[in-house]
Amino acid sequence: MDFEKLFEESCKYMPGGVNSPVRAFRSVNINPIFIEYGKGSHLFDCNGNEYIDYICSWGPLILGHSSEILTKNIQEIFEKGTSFGLPTKKELELANIICNTYPIDMVRMVSSGTEATMSAIRVARGYTKKDKIIKFEGNYHGHSDCLLVEAGSGALTFQNPTSAGVPLDMIKNTIVCKYNDINSVKNAISNNKNEVACIILEPIACNMGLICAEKSFLQELREICNMENIILIFDEVITGFRVALGGASEYYNIVPDMACFGKIIGGGLPVGAYGGKKEIMEIVSPLGNVYQAGTLSGNPLAMEVGIRQLSYLKNNPQVYTNIREYTNNLSNAIENIIKKYKLPCSVNHCESLLTIFFKEGNIKNYDDVKDCNTEAFSKYYKLMLEQNIILPPSQFEGLFISNAHTQKDLEKTIYAIEKSLKECFL
Ligand code: PLP
Repeated sequence: MDFEKLFEESCKYMPGGVNSPVRAFRSVNINPIFIEYGKGSHLFDCNGNEYIDYICSWGPLILGHSSEILTKNIQEIFEKGTSFGLPTKKELELANIICNTYPIDMVRMVSSGTEATMSAIRVARGYTKKDKIIKFEGNYHGHSDCLLVEAGSGALTFQNPTSAGVPLDMIKNTIVCKYNDINSVKNAISNNKNEVACIILEPIACNMGLICAEKSFLQELREICNMENIILIFDEVITGFRVALGGASEYYNIVPDMACFGKIIGGGLPVGAYGGKKEIMEIVSPLGNVYQAGTLSGNPLAMEVGIRQLSYLKNNPQVYTNIREYTNNLSNAIENIIKKYKLPCSVNHCESLLTIFFKEGNIKNYDDVKDCNTEAFSKYYKLMLEQNIILPPSQFEGLFISNAHTQKDLEKTIYAIEKSLKECFL
């Protein structure tokens, strides 16, 4: 199959030939690969080429592709109907698992991470009766207007990270602070006294490459929010049920007022969710006056897959040990390669997430990642692909490791990384 032709044809009908910008592979200057199917840690393209996959659908597939744990007899659910627009027991079951795993009292299902963060902010504003919000440079929370300011992920890869089509009026209440810089938050709050409804952040930032928040930064945010009557929202769309069963909240032992989920809780189907303390969530319609609704929210197929994935994770803590160990080994090997050849690179990793930055030094916020050598990254990307390893096609993303990745995958990956980095720089 001629991928160039397929892409040309796709470009006629879809902007950039894709349904989400990063899939166009533009930042690495190649045409996209068309995928036929995935199995375990591997992807197979329409020409039968096999790749070790480190995208894992950008996070949902913590158990790997087409895991039987999720797919077994799924047709039975499908045959009963995929959407009723009326309550089902499955919604209760998934809500029960989430609220008894993560420190929130109530949850509302939606269909994407974008919807989750957008709705959480509406609730925070409704609850506090304040309009302003604080977000952080390089953090990505989906593509709703008020959050698409200095965003990470595709927005950081493709253009000045504020989208055209977002009227200034829509973002005039969005204050952008520096990640891991508590003084920038303190200043913003004192300049906007009693006006800030919420602080939303990725407690482990995954959309400017992987950057962990410093624990003291999160602790101080928690304290400031308590003192100033500001809702602290953890965007756990990537980190929820990944860095630990209880997400970044468990990892850091810090409880936010609200949290947003997506990806893993749907096991690869379109799902998101937001939740929080009872008194906050009780203002959501129909109990309260913050309106939010969704035709396909909580649809039975997505709920069933989510229940299967989360139940498996709860009953098999070994998954977390496996993926942590794989990532630690990968990170150690990369650090050794960097040292051995004195390469201008660095690596950040946390649990099952990892980024090689094409820049030396300690990478701890957006300023640090801005001047990474994206040209070298692009070369490296192609060299890895030639060795049948598919990475997220942007410097500003993290690798996702799943429980299906094997020792053989690890060895092949380390070998390919050494070869590619050497070819890039030496
Ligand atoms: N929040 C975070 C941290 C994300 O990484 C993403 C997407 O990658 C979103 C929100 C938006 O989720 P979705 O793409 O499901 O709308």
